Amino acid sequence: MIFKTPRGTQDILPSETWKWQRVEKIINETCDTYRYKEIRTPLFEQTELFQRLVGETTDVVQKEMYTFMDKGNRSMTLRPEGTAPVVRSFVEHKMFGYPDQPVKLFYTGPMFRYERQQAGRYRQFVQFGAEAIGSADPAIDAEVIALAMDVYKRAGLTKLKLVLNSLGDTECRTSHKEALIAHFGPHIEEFCGDCKSRLEKNPLRILDCKVDYKNPLIASAPSLADYLNEESVAYFKEVKSYLDDLGIAYEVDANLVRGLDYYNHTAFEIMSTSEGFGAITTLCGGGRYNGLAEEIGGPSAPGIGFAMSIERLLLAMEAEGKSFVDEPNLDVYVITLGEEAKHPGFKLLSELRSSDIRSDMDYMDRKMKGQMRSADRLNAQVVVIIGEDEVAENVAMVKNMSDGTQEKIATGELIEKIKDILTR
Ligand code: ATP
Ligand code: MG
Repeated sequence: MIFKTPRGTQDILPSETWKWQRVEKIINETCDTYRYKEIRTPLFEQTELFQRLVGETTDVVQKEMYTFMDKGNRSMTLRPEGTAPVVRSFVEHKMFGYPDQPVKLFYTGPMFRYERQQAGRYRQFVQFGAEAIGSADPAIDAEVIALAMDVYKRAGLTKLKLVLNSLGDTECRTSHKEALIAHFGPHIEEFCGDCKSRLEKNPLRILDCKVDYKNPLIASAPSLADYLNEESVAYFKEVKSYLDDLGIAYEVDANLVRGLDYYNHTAFEIMSTSEGFGAITTLCGGGRYNGLAEEIGGPSAPGIGFAMSIERLLLAMEAEGKSFVDEPNLDVYVITLGEEAKHPGFKLLSELRSSDIRSDMDYMDRKMKGQMRSADRLNAQVVVIIGEDEVAENVAMVKNMSDGTQEKIATGELIEKIKDILTR
């Protein structure tokens, strides 16, 4: 074999795509119920957008981006996440001027990160994400969380855990940052090179380090929870009370630091608690990002959102033993016997399709038995058999596969008869 899918990518074959379509249907319907509208942004953007919005010191920007120079010598990056493009679009199209605020958007599409491949971790993966931009009402934080939970619920998942934290606002972050620098500074030689460079710029990232996570100084680091100001505490309390209204259970984890820099106030993750689910249990991550639109020259427009990958949703379904029901995908299989029957059969196929009846026929010159086997394999509900005698008589044999009965039907009445069997 000369060519293979690049590492970290996968072909999704027809035996799987139908499940993806089911999930996408659930996503579209749930978003519609919550009045979130779909947005589609380009697969690549100017590199600087991600550097600015995701943050220079994050793993995503430092290690995981697919960045290339285009032929015009501009640095472009395959999108590693969806929030920055959505906020860029929000500012570019002046959505802050829309009469209906907040602007509620969702997207589903591939993201690209140069990561080490493991179960549930790909270099190209599909994220569904939602964003509500323009409101700082804690009720919308709860709404956004509810939307994510609802999608999982509709996919049949029950073993879920919502973990919540408050990252506070800029004021708390600044005093916490100083405390972290004082804490780690004297011992920074014990830490990896990344952490050394994080110390001054973004010491919070040290807490999320994948290399030094066992260093006891991480566990003993000053907790952001102790630096939250009154306003942040009050905001967090409101978010929790709205979640209580919805009957959504949560755990507060003061150590939850998200992997992207733009979050403030609410941060959350949804995990699978299913036993069969591997080492990576996070299904969904999100949070509030006030100030992101301003960062790229827009007006102040507080936002909140989340992203989840479909890959991990499907893995979680598997781990919980939940699967979609595979409905039969063929209504009618047309069997033709002999030269004379082929043209009438081929025309009938086209009529069936015009009537929205899912149908197919043989193109491999198979004998009767082989065609019948195909019809069985494809789980056809009805088989229409046209031989030379039928052509001469202007009829076709219609076989109802669910009860095995068959009947000769005049050509002009075929579609009605078939519809009749299918709706029974
Ligand atoms: P992780 O800690 O697993 O690397 P993250 O913090 O990088 O996650 P986010 O950027 O918040 O993840 O993305 C939100 C969600 O997207 C994750 O919870 C996960 O479901 C999914 N996700 C992230 N990276 C990948 C990947 N490489 N492959 C598949 N799904 C992914
Ligand atoms: Mg990651």
